[in-house]
Amino acid sequence: MIVAQRKNIPDLLAIVKIHKKLLVLGCGTCVTVCLAGGQREVSIIASALRMSAKLKGLPLEVEELTIERQCDNVFLEQAADAINRNDAVLSLGCGAGVQAIAERYTNKPVYAGLDTAFIGILEERGIWTEKCAACGACVLHEYGGICPVTRCAKHMLNGPCSGSREDRCEVNPERQCAWQLIYKRLKDIGQLDRLKKIKPPKNWNRSQSGGYRTIIREDHRV
Ligand code: SF4
Ligand code: SF4
Repeated sequence: MIVAQRKNIPDLLAIVKIHKKLLVLGCGTCVTVCLAGGQREVSIIASALRMSAKLKGLPLEVEELTIERQCDNVFLEQAADAINRNDAVLSLGCGAGVQAIAERYTNKPVYAGLDTAFIGILEERGIWTEKCAACGACVLHEYGGICPVTRCAKHMLNGPCSGSREDRCEVNPERQCAWQLIYKRLKDIGQLDRLKKIKPPKNWNRSQSGGYRTIIREDHRV
C-alpha cells in the first residue's frame, strides 16, 4: 500500500486559513489502512481545524467527506457537489489523489493534508516499513522476494558490502542487513545458486529519475 502520514494541525491551518469554507476529503483505500486519511482521520482533522480556527478568530467552516478512492475519476465524481460548494479542498489522499482533484477541478484550490511517504506494509501494530521504491523493473525474483533496491542502504545488487556486522547494516545498525536476509531466504528456498551469478548493473531507464512515468496498455485502450 501507499503509506502516508498526517501534517500537523498548525501547519494545516496555516495552509487553509485564507479560505472560509473548506472540504476535508478523505480516501478510503491505502491511506485508510495506514490510519492517515480515512473517515476517522477526516473527522479528527476537521474537528481540530474548527477548534484551532475558532481559537484564532478565523471564520472557517469545515465540511467532511470520505470517498472510496481519490485517484479514480469514477469515485471522485461522488465528491463533485461537496467540492463545488466549498472554497477549497484539503485532501487526505496520497499525492496522486491530490493531483487527480487538481486536474479535474481546475478552478478549485486543493491542498495536501498528508505527507506521502512510500510503498510499504504494516510490519506490526503502529509500524509501517518501506518495501518497494517503484524502480520500474522488478528484480525480486533474483533475491528471494527481498528487495535490495529498497532495503539495502547502498542499493547493492551484488552484496553484501562487507560492512555488515553480525546481521546488522553498517549504515544503520538498528536495521538488519538486507543481504543477510536475502542470503537466509535463498538458502531456505534452496536457491543459493542465484548468488553465484554476478548481476549486471541495474537498468534504471524505467526509474523515476527521468521524470514521471506512464504505462500504456494498448489492449485496454478504446
Ligand atoms: S526491485 Fe524495484 S519494483 Fe521490485 S520491489 Fe524493489 S524497488 Fe520495487
Ligand atoms: S550492511 Fe548490508 S544492508 Fe547495509 S549497506 Fe551493506 S549490504 Fe546493504
